[in-house]
Amino acid sequence: PDLNLMIESARRHGDKTFVVDFSSAGEERRLSFDQMFAWRDQLVPMLHIQRGDRVAICMRNRAEWMVAFMATIKAGGVAALLNSRGSPAELVAMIEDVTPALVLADTARAELIRAGGFAGRMLDLTKPFDGQEIDRRAGEPVPDPGLAKPEDPCAILFTSGTTGRVKGAVLTHRSLITGLMATQLTGVMVLHNMARAHGIPVETIMANLPQQATLLVYPLFHVSGLGSSFLSPLFAGTKVVIMRRWDADEAVRLIQAEQITQFSAVPTMLWDMLHKAKLGAADLSSLRNIASGGQALPVNLLDEIRSVCPQAVMGTGYGMTEASGAVAQAVGEDFIRNRASAGRVLQLADVRIAAPDGTLMPQGDSGEIQVRGAMVMQGYWNRPEETAAAFTADGWLRTGDVGYVDGEGYVFIVDRVKDMVISGGENIYCAEVERVMGEMPGMIECAAFGIPDERLGELLVAVVVAQDTDEAAIKQWVGERLARYKAPAHVAFSPDSLPRNHLGKVDKIKLRAMWPHLFGVQ
Ligand code: ATP
Ligand code: MG
Repeated sequence: PDLNLMIESARRHGDKTFVVDFSSAGEERRLSFDQMFAWRDQLVPMLHIQRGDRVAICMRNRAEWMVAFMATIKAGGVAALLNSRGSPAELVAMIEDVTPALVLADTARAELIRAGGFAGRMLDLTKPFDGQEIDRRAGEPVPDPGLAKPEDPCAILFTSGTTGRVKGAVLTHRSLITGLMATQLTGVMVLHNMARAHGIPVETIMANLPQQATLLVYPLFHVSGLGSSFLSPLFAGTKVVIMRRWDADEAVRLIQAEQITQFSAVPTMLWDMLHKAKLGAADLSSLRNIASGGQALPVNLLDEIRSVCPQAVMGTGYGMTEASGAVAQAVGEDFIRNRASAGRVLQLADVRIAAPDGTLMPQGDSGEIQVRGAMVMQGYWNRPEETAAAFTADGWLRTGDVGYVDGEGYVFIVDRVKDMVISGGENIYCAEVERVMGEMPGMIECAAFGIPDERLGELLVAVVVAQDTDEAAIKQWVGERLARYKAPAHVAFSPDSLPRNHLGKVDKIKLRAMWPHLFGVQ
């Protein structure tokens, strides 16, 4: 019941390479599992925290971030994972919200946080440890925090803020361990199926599998970065090649140079790799497994990836910060056969579909997706009202997503509740309109959303980045394929790519604010 026990099990990988990291100057560092543990053990006595103390971690993706997380958990602390892209004011607001005993930062973030007015304890992990203020306390005996109880908080992860202000989900040791186990089971099942299909025992496959290598493209502070690109590889003995920030050309270079076997990314990143990067004669044949999540994967894009990387098994997943990551996944044939689905409900999770009044929907009908299971968060940090609103009276997490589940347990996401537009009494799902617009030739990016309208209540409008088309053609395209009222009332052409948040999701809050300007309205 203590995440440390799982982390500790990774010591068996010894002197194999765990992390490949590049400094801003481009220098390469390679650290083994042993070295990461030694570094962690050096840091633990310098933290001077007690069980339950929060430690805010605020760094770009780098080996020090992982060491900070491992040390915090080892010392019994709660790791509060801050969005490293924040402005000084945002960073300090988040820090004041979690009231940490200590902040662990890199030099650039430490300067921003000080500039924002933070005067508490902070350690710059990218500088040598000696000589720093905090080090003077080293040498004092370190109390052993003992094992965590399952319900002890382990980490605070912030949601992406797609639908409003970010909230910190408090994940316990039990929730994080369950979330990790739930997704690992998918991997075991894939292996099991492979063994059966080829008539080879699982042990033989395992024994002959070379060390896997993954590319870390998500931010480490996001649940997908933490789980699928750091902790899962740690347990599995997989090498992690860290990208400090997303860059499609750099990703293509690293896949070849480091022989990356698997990685997961949001669809936008996959699109960038195929369309923005200079693929040329790039050899992507090392890739065995590509997973997409966080957002629906457009079918066109899926086909393109499969033609560029025919040897790679494709996967998808649906999940959220509040559920410690994925609650549904599908890999390989299971996914290809149900390409419109976001995966099959994981064996450790329960999913149900409810109408707005709380009654349960019959199988196959759309409603709000609700989740129950040990992977679900304790609540939002410091937000009792939002926590209360996030759960039903009988304790299920309200995801705020609309979707349905078919007879085989496949989940289909229709839209976010908050993205549904009600125009003249008709419900319009933005995600559906976006999917249809996205299939139009010449369409590069598109987003649909509602704006207030006196007569209809709300009006559906769209902002697009597109070539060789115009407003009338787009309206006609949608109107012919969906009910006429689902065609956007206005379409604005954006000269730049659409604003996106740190995970690559379109930032509709910014788009709504940009809307009057795009139409020249004051
Ligand atoms: P906030 O909760 O702050 O508004 P967010 O919901 O975007 O932000 P995350 O926890 O990072 O924050 O994302 C989870 C959400 O992402 C899900 O609730 C769902 O809306 C969306 N999502 C995740 N996977 C998929 C998928 N495969 N298809 C469609 N949507 C998905
Ligand atoms: Mg959310």
